[in-house]
Amino acid sequence: MEIVKEEHLVPDELMSPPKSSVKNSEYFQLTVKPLLEEGKDGELIDWLKDIGLLRRSQKCANPECQGLKPMDWKRARIVDKFHWSCPACKKKASIRLDSPLMDFHCSFKIILDTITAWCDGISLEDFTKENKNVKAVIAKRIYNTCTTVADWYMHSHPELSYLGGENSVVLVDTFPEGCMTTSPHNNNYPKRVLCLADTSHMPARIWAHIIDKNLDYQKLTALVTEHVRPGSTIVANPALYPLLHSIKGMAEVISVEALMALDPADYQRSLKNLETIWKSTVSVCQDIQNMSTNEGEQILRELEWRQVFPSSLSQILHDIASYAAATRSA
Ligand SMILES: [Zn+2]
Repeated sequence: MEIVKEEHLVPDELMSPPKSSVKNSEYFQLTVKPLLEEGKDGELIDWLKDIGLLRRSQKCANPECQGLKPMDWKRARIVDKFHWSCPACKKKASIRLDSPLMDFHCSFKIILDTITAWCDGISLEDFTKENKNVKAVIAKRIYNTCTTVADWYMHSHPELSYLGGENSVVLVDTFPEGCMTTSPHNNNYPKRVLCLADTSHMPARIWAHIIDKNLDYQKLTALVTEHVRPGSTIVANPALYPLLHSIKGMAEVISVEALMALDPADYQRSLKNLETIWKSTVSVCQDIQNMSTNEGEQILRELEWRQVFPSSLSQILHDIASYAAATRSA
């Protein structure tokens, strides 16, 4: 197959960033990495407190001490290098108590390395294969937490599931039968996914939802109307175009075929541009085929979150802390 690289209909900045480069992000290099060096335990822990991943204060669980003096922060010969200690009854408590890191039974360095790998899009299998010192069950727990938190974030920010608006182009397609990828693939996947991409953001913002294989077109149109803001230009795959072309309130509705007509010199090139925008979406749509619908939806929310936060490390750390605070107070 012809690979077209030189010129794109869609500017390069709309393309998803390569997943593998994130670890070299400024945030990891300048903020996280220096704190993981030998002898920086105190600074690392201060930082974990600052970003909300460890608690700043703790009360003694002993009923006789409750509400009296707060517990002290003491150095200790344990993995975490510190613990809480009650000034009254001398009872000790883990510095992870009631924190989002409580269930991750490994060093802070391993936790941060694992979260960074999740951000970088490294599969759990590859990560545990390359990091023999990390227990697979712990790495899986950390990965699952990141996914749960990203899913929670998207649910608590419903405005992010509305795409487009004036001067925005929103692509509307379905997987597997649409034109999201030119590589030959099986169209008999068990799950069908409605995918929207708002190309006014970099990378394109995605909204994707598993739909019934036999979902009637009226319902499908309703979903599109619900998630695409008025004033948008919709570019629909040829099968959806006849249904969507009369949607009210849009600036314009055009079919992918018409888009190709604007670019007759190189039909393949336009398809390649679309394929690039959809690349990570297609990959996730394939990944979720053997999952339950709930699990699949969660992974689609994670995809949406990743498109909103392409350099995601500082964001996920912040969101893990917010999620813990929200679920604690709930
Ligand atoms: Zn006490």
